[in-house]
Amino acid sequence: MFADLHLHTHFSDGSFSPEELVAHGRQHGLAAMSLTDHDTVEGCARTSAACAAASIEFIPGTELTAELDGFEVHLLGYGIDTKDAKLLGEINRFQLVRQSRIHQMVAKLNELKVPLRADDVFALANCHSPGRPHVARALVQAGLCANMDEAFERFLKANRPAWVPKCKISAREGVELIHHAGGVAVMAHPGLNKTDDVIPKLAEQGLDGLECFHTKHMPAACQHYLKLAKVLGLLVTGGSDCHGLNKGRPLIGSVKLPYDYVEKLNAAIAASQARRRGTAEAAASN
Ligand code: AMP
Ligand code: ZN
Ligand code: FE
Ligand code: FE
Repeated sequence: MFADLHLHTHFSDGSFSPEELVAHGRQHGLAAMSLTDHDTVEGCARTSAACAAASIEFIPGTELTAELDGFEVHLLGYGIDTKDAKLLGEINRFQLVRQSRIHQMVAKLNELKVPLRADDVFALANCHSPGRPHVARALVQAGLCANMDEAFERFLKANRPAWVPKCKISAREGVELIHHAGGVAVMAHPGLNKTDDVIPKLAEQGLDGLECFHTKHMPAACQHYLKLAKVLGLLVTGGSDCHGLNKGRPLIGSVKLPYDYVEKLNAAIAASQARRRGTAEAAASN
């Protein structure tokens, strides 16, 4: 039994609907899936329903962008209450920043005499959590770039002329927000962010796990992070980071997390939810 715990839908920058995603998960024989769209939990209800119909276990999730000592860190929140008021308030704030960032990137493109319109990006994105991949696709659709790679290389990568940095919460706040919502905080694709130096510090700040299995982790990297997780007492997770058809072929199912790790994750989620209930009861009795 295997799981894929890092997946995106069109509620952020993936191409699949929740139902399409689950249909692919079923084809790959997944026993468990999690949806981890950037800065949103909107797709979780539909993905949960589709998983239930397909007898696949579903773990609600999200992927937040955080910062620690100048490093960008992506935090996966697993088992969160998708109706938690504080989480939804913060997510709403991240989405508003993402939307104004689209306007800023389009303004920079227009200064470079690239006639892209913000409305075209928003129409194409058709979600509350737009990002650079939507700008790239809009550039391709308008015939202003040959493909998404060109859009990123010429304009959108860090320090390229139309790049605008993303608003990031501190990693500590991100971890606390996930815990507040009864979830478990996992650092996504540590091998991509070259963040090894800050992982022990983040573990001290409450990080629960490390995404050791990831599409872009070669076997040596995977082994390295499995060892690090063991040394630091962190949970192990894994997923494909599938964005549907938006980044070449759909990756779902290409990373197979052995189910034993899901059981450990579920136990940690249950403990986080129990702590949350305990905190709420203590507050009510005061
Ligand atoms: P954002 O959250 O707006 O900063 O955008 C980050 C997203 O852009 C991530 O999902 C990246 O994987 C994606 N991305 C980065 N470089 C490229 C690229 N060359 N082609 C397609 N997507 C990319
Ligand atoms: Zn993405
Ligand atoms: Fe990420
Ligand atoms: Fe992701």
